[in-house]
Amino acid sequence: MRNLTCIVCPIGCALVVEGEEQGASTTAGGDSFPALTITGNRCSRGAVYAQEEVRAPKRVVTATCPIAGRVSAYEAGRSLYAPRRIPVKTLSPCPREKIPALLADIYKTKVSVPVKAGDTVIANWNGEGINVIAVRTVS
Ligand code: SF4
Repeated sequence: MRNLTCIVCPIGCALVVEGEEQGASTTAGGDSFPALTITGNRCSRGAVYAQEEVRAPKRVVTATCPIAGRVSAYEAGRSLYAPRRIPVKTLSPCPREKIPALLADIYKTKVSVPVKAGDTVIANWNGEGINVIAVRTVS
């Protein structure tokens, strides 16, 4: 048995997932998934979330990319602050086991400025359909 909090909407239903260790199919509350009984969900989205979280967990990834050609104000001999990295995030969740490889590529990707919030920094990462976007405008 596993207890989860549904994060799909602000209600945050307390979900109980049973049957992870079983091979048989079960049905709960009209939502049927192989070997899982999911209760506590007020709607079917919670059952889908619990199924994914148990079988194939995914996460939205946030990180920073280096900005191409930027050196620190200290190295440049300036007193002005000029960011050397830009915050980025994935537009869709990434399978948890692939996050280290995705982060390694994000950290290697040098972003040319100017860049606007929402611009794609990495498109279709590794053919996974995951796009990484800038979350801040940097000029
Ligand atoms: S189960 Fe449905 S109602 Fe409950 S938190 Fe998840 S999405 Fe919201």
